[in-house]
Amino acid sequence: MLPTQARIVIVGGGIIGCSTAYHLAKFGCSDVLLLERAKLTSGSTHHAAGLVGQLRTSAGITQLLGHSIALYESIEEETGLATGWKMNGGLRLACNRQRMIELERQATTAHSFGLEMHLLSPTEARDLWPLMSIDDLVGAAFLPTDGQANPSDITLALAKGARMHGAALIEDCEATGVEAHDGRVTAVTTREGRIACEAVVNCCGQWAREFGQLAGVNVPLVSVQHQYMITQSIEGVKSDLPTLRDPDRLTYYKEEVGGLVMGGYEPNPLPWAVDGIPEGFSFSLLDSNWEHFEQLMALALPRVPALEGVGVKQLLNGPESFTPDGNFILGEAPEVAGYYVGAGFNAFGIASGGGAGKALAEWILGGEPPYDLWPVDIRRFGRPHGNIDWVRQRTHEMYGKHYTIAWPHEENASGRPFRRSPLYDDLKAAGACFGEKLGWERPNWFAPADVTPEDSYSFERQNWFAYVGNEHRAVRERVGVFDQTSFAKFMLRGPDAERALSWMCANDVTRDPGTVVYTQLLNSRGGIECDLTVARIDAHGYYIVTGTGFASHDFHWISTHVQPGLNVELTDVTDDYSVISVFGPRSRDLLASITTEPLDNNTFPFASVREIRIEGVSVRAVRITYVGELGWELHTPVGSARDVYGAVMAAGEDHGAIPCGYRAIESLRLEKGYRAWSSDLTPDHTPLQAGLGFAVKLGSNSPFLGREALVAQRQAGLTRRLACFTVDDQDVLLLGRETIYRDGERVGWLTSGGYGHTVDKSIGYGYVRNQAGVDREYLQAGRYELEVASRRFPADIHFAPLYDPRNERLRS
Ligand SMILES: Cc1cc2nc3c(=O)[nH]c(=O)nc-3n(C[C@H](O)[C@H](O)[C@H](O)COP(=O)(O)OP(=O)(O)OC[C@H]3O[C@@H](n4cnc5c(N)ncnc54)[C@H](O)[C@@H]3O)c2cc1C
Repeated sequence: MLPTQARIVIVGGGIIGCSTAYHLAKFGCSDVLLLERAKLTSGSTHHAAGLVGQLRTSAGITQLLGHSIALYESIEEETGLATGWKMNGGLRLACNRQRMIELERQATTAHSFGLEMHLLSPTEARDLWPLMSIDDLVGAAFLPTDGQANPSDITLALAKGARMHGAALIEDCEATGVEAHDGRVTAVTTREGRIACEAVVNCCGQWAREFGQLAGVNVPLVSVQHQYMITQSIEGVKSDLPTLRDPDRLTYYKEEVGGLVMGGYEPNPLPWAVDGIPEGFSFSLLDSNWEHFEQLMALALPRVPALEGVGVKQLLNGPESFTPDGNFILGEAPEVAGYYVGAGFNAFGIASGGGAGKALAEWILGGEPPYDLWPVDIRRFGRPHGNIDWVRQRTHEMYGKHYTIAWPHEENASGRPFRRSPLYDDLKAAGACFGEKLGWERPNWFAPADVTPEDSYSFERQNWFAYVGNEHRAVRERVGVFDQTSFAKFMLRGPDAERALSWMCANDVTRDPGTVVYTQLLNSRGGIECDLTVARIDAHGYYIVTGTGFASHDFHWISTHVQPGLNVELTDVTDDYSVISVFGPRSRDLLASITTEPLDNNTFPFASVREIRIEGVSVRAVRITYVGELGWELHTPVGSARDVYGAVMAAGEDHGAIPCGYRAIESLRLEKGYRAWSSDLTPDHTPLQAGLGFAVKLGSNSPFLGREALVAQRQAGLTRRLACFTVDDQDVLLLGRETIYRDGERVGWLTSGGYGHTVDKSIGYGYVRNQAGVDREYLQAGRYELEVASRRFPADIHFAPLYDPRNERLRS
């Protein structure tokens, strides 16, 4: 009999659904019901190859993968069911110098996150994998704690564990819909009846998009065919053979019953089920496509000559869900409260399954992500992700790039342009080389007339370095004009707007109209969920501006943290305003020539907002910058943006103004010490640790979300602090994730890195950790080195912004 009620209903009995059920029940929430339309494991899970790798570019996701491994090691003891887990290590090969640099950088990332990863010579690699030819190898890397497992066995062990802890798992029962009332989940429907519930978890694998649509929830993923070949046994293939990834030859390998599994990522992936997944597709495979697989075979044979004569048991073709950024999708959907998603696993769902189920269970029970999961957070998506053609194009591009070198500053090409500022054509005519963020085209840098505005990628200084340097200096010495139209912008209106924001903002927003406040919004752990500016427009209205990529996330955070009973309305006004930013010591002179409103420090001080008129247009001018110079953001009605921009640029000729891009902003903000959310600031870091104590109202009695955690942290003392480092060696390129050593001990990693064109040095920020406490004295007493691409370089630590013009200029 189907129950009529359960606290949490999980839909989908693959590895993700079973892992989520297991963890929820294990954490004490046994009122959990899992529904599987067919049989457990009958989706993508049953045909996975079973490689379990761990290294990702985010500490949080690497931690999540580590949880999987710990679970796969222990679950057999708990349930009596084996998982086939073996820690035989993982090898990665490099066939050219640039790939080797990538491996050296990955090894440093691994060290930063506490994973062992060794660089090997070609012969050392062959000692571990004797069947391979090493003629074209430059080097390799080895992660001893990687391994492989049997996907169906793990899933059935998790299912048994879930039942042992009290969860109910029902097969042959399809969920046909989700009911919601007042924007909150109330029930899951099936043909056998309705199950009232508080929360639903969509773990439907490649069905997750269609199932999400039934409740108006967007889960941007598409199915792609993925093939691997299973051979008969091959002499010399031992059961402890490490997994092998050969990215320059687009292929991967693992041992299976004395033979090899060999698969890969072709540049021209084949879509599947474009018009919907056929009825009854369970334990099903697609037809083997030898013609398509041949390109991978041709790359594999020179590496593993033994494949030449061996018998092939099967060329397995299984569809799997892939996403537009290659990361999976986790968390509470912004569209419906109580609707959680765990889907889109991009062919690493077995590696992620244990950790993803745990994180999702903690998220559901705790009401917020348990640690920084931003790279996989469902709220990272925005407008382009609601367009299935865009999703498919971008997903195919990412699939094809699975094994290509991940270049620093690399941009994607598909689905562009998608969203354009009204200034797009003017900027293009001025030589803009555009990057893309959440579908928006944004100038990264401007090419001189005789230079093609195109990035050329490498691990050295890239072709745009000098042009960005010129833009940087223009902002420091004269004035630079930026198009920041893509900023996410919200209005919070209503009689309780002040009360609502006071509760969720760590800084004091109870200021007079006309004031702008820089603030963080914290979770219950004191971790930073949003980092934004709040401009008070009038008694009942606040204008909130945040980063382009954080539009969905921040809107969701703010709207779900208004305390019950308060009368406010939050609207997204991003499309209403263009933002033309005029930054630099001569910005005041420039603007004074096109507006009659006073711009002096008394009338228009730092951190204030005023309406001014330019070209007869009423413009919301905000005196704030992210570059550490005098400057104004001109929030201009979209329809008048070109007129205002034209006036600014024409007047700018007398002041040496030039258009500038986002890479100059990055260089400028690093010098000034401005932090960036999602790298320097995350839900795992508090403002006290991040050096933002000045923006927290702990001195007042005003209650706010996260306050208790900050008070406790202040009393206990900090065990990590964000610090600024520079490296003198001009050949060192800091990109983020480089390891920080203090007196020879590993103490953290860089959260961001880049180059400061005024100080002429590479700059990095990162948290220095020490369980016994980190204070100024501790930081000062250390001798620092940064590990960059597996080599260590001396570094200097700094306690003040590397460049701060405030004293000379802002008070002038
Ligand atoms: C060829 C291939 C090789 C792979 N190799 C690897 C690898 O080496 N390593 C690795 O980590 N990963 C690998 N993967 C990826 C891995 O298989 C998947 O990421 C993982 O299995 C996804 O699990 P899931 O639970 O999200 O989805 P699924 O296993 O597809 O489970 C979803 C379940 O939801 C059920 N369902 C759907 N709709 C409903 C509904 N309305 N009501 C009830 N139930 C519903 C389905 O029947 C299905 O059982 C590979 C995948 C393929 C295709």
